[in-house]
Amino acid sequence: MGKNSASNKKCIMLISDGLGDRPIEEMGYKTPLEYANHPTLDMLAASGMTGLVHPYKAGTRCGTDWGHICLFGYDPEKYYTGRGSVEAYSAGMTLQDGDVAFRGNLGTVDENYVVVDRRAGRIKEKEDIDQLVAAVNGIEIEGYQLLVTSLTEHRLAVVVRGAGLGGSISDVDPGTACEGMKIVDPKEDAVGDDNYKTAEMLWKLLHKAYEIWKDHPVNQKRVAEGKLPANFILTRGSGKAMVLPPFTSMYKGAKVAVLAGDETITGIGRMCGFDGYSKETFTGGFDTDYQGKAELAQELLENYDLVIVHVKGTDLCGHDNLPFKKAEIVEKIDTMFAYWLEQNKDRDIYYGMIADHSTPCCRRDHSADPVPVFLTGKDVRKDDVTVYGERACSKGILNQYTGATFMATIMDYLWFSKKYGA
Ligand SMILES: [Zn+2]
Repeated sequence: MGKNSASNKKCIMLISDGLGDRPIEEMGYKTPLEYANHPTLDMLAASGMTGLVHPYKAGTRCGTDWGHICLFGYDPEKYYTGRGSVEAYSAGMTLQDGDVAFRGNLGTVDENYVVVDRRAGRIKEKEDIDQLVAAVNGIEIEGYQLLVTSLTEHRLAVVVRGAGLGGSISDVDPGTACEGMKIVDPKEDAVGDDNYKTAEMLWKLLHKAYEIWKDHPVNQKRVAEGKLPANFILTRGSGKAMVLPPFTSMYKGAKVAVLAGDETITGIGRMCGFDGYSKETFTGGFDTDYQGKAELAQELLENYDLVIVHVKGTDLCGHDNLPFKKAEIVEKIDTMFAYWLEQNKDRDIYYGMIADHSTPCCRRDHSADPVPVFLTGKDVRKDDVTVYGERACSKGILNQYTGATFMATIMDYLWFSKKYGA
């Protein structure tokens, strides 16, 4: 049974990256979420269901990519192949089954392939990068193709496409602070025919790119300006293409938009078949355009069943041990929900909030602590929780849910759930 189209139900779900925290002495042993003043979030929590949710599984610690794959309704264990694929999608590439993806750097090597600088002097001139990438993107040898897209600064997403490739080869990049060492031939320790094929073709393609780049006008200009030439792609983190079944294979007909300043999030969204939206003012930092995000989400609500809004600042505060700033960002999120409530006061919209993992300030890294969530709407079941915080949500009815089952719950309220049996 698919969607009852007459119902026209819609939801805004906000993901506050790394929101969950631990008690902080300077906050009177409250968490930043408990310390912050957020009357709208409290009201939303009080009017619906809450809980402490495990983004993946109880006791596991998620990275942002893994956590979001969970929140989007998938089991990453079945699909996750590494960071290379995530970066390729983040760069706007679409991978095919059988592709092998890598993370890459624009680097500088000398004529003996000794690494002079792993980041080509931290190259950041966008025009230079675009011209160099365009000169090698799509080159082919023996039916194998090299696809290259630039990310920020010296970072690249790199894909080798062709038949019979394996996803597990060692890094060409000799590694952090290894300037003065030669690039590493991954054929040397490739195991199995498929991995050897990948190593062989990558090595040939990278050398062909070097031939194109070593005397390229952009590099001649850079050298004349006293800058390091960007003449080699240093790859690391190989992995087979991550190809997720479309979200609509689980929730037929569902239209989902994801708004983020962080390319990783829109990239993972695209992997699921969501439409990704960003603006220059969405920085993926502390100073993102909260109101701009709220307004764009409101506009997108007309064309989508589910609008997912990502806020990164809470995670950054956890990593930087800035609990009071984390509380301030929660207050900004509160005003986003207040805006949506005002805009939709004559409509029945569902509102949800979750995090991809906890990033406790005291730890300055992700932890396995479950994350506080709420889901509310006119016909949503209520629990007795009246406040949105880690402690309060521990008494909610969504307790022990996972990220994927939280998504399933939202999709059930939106009438996209499959019925099992007759
Ligand atoms: Zn995260």
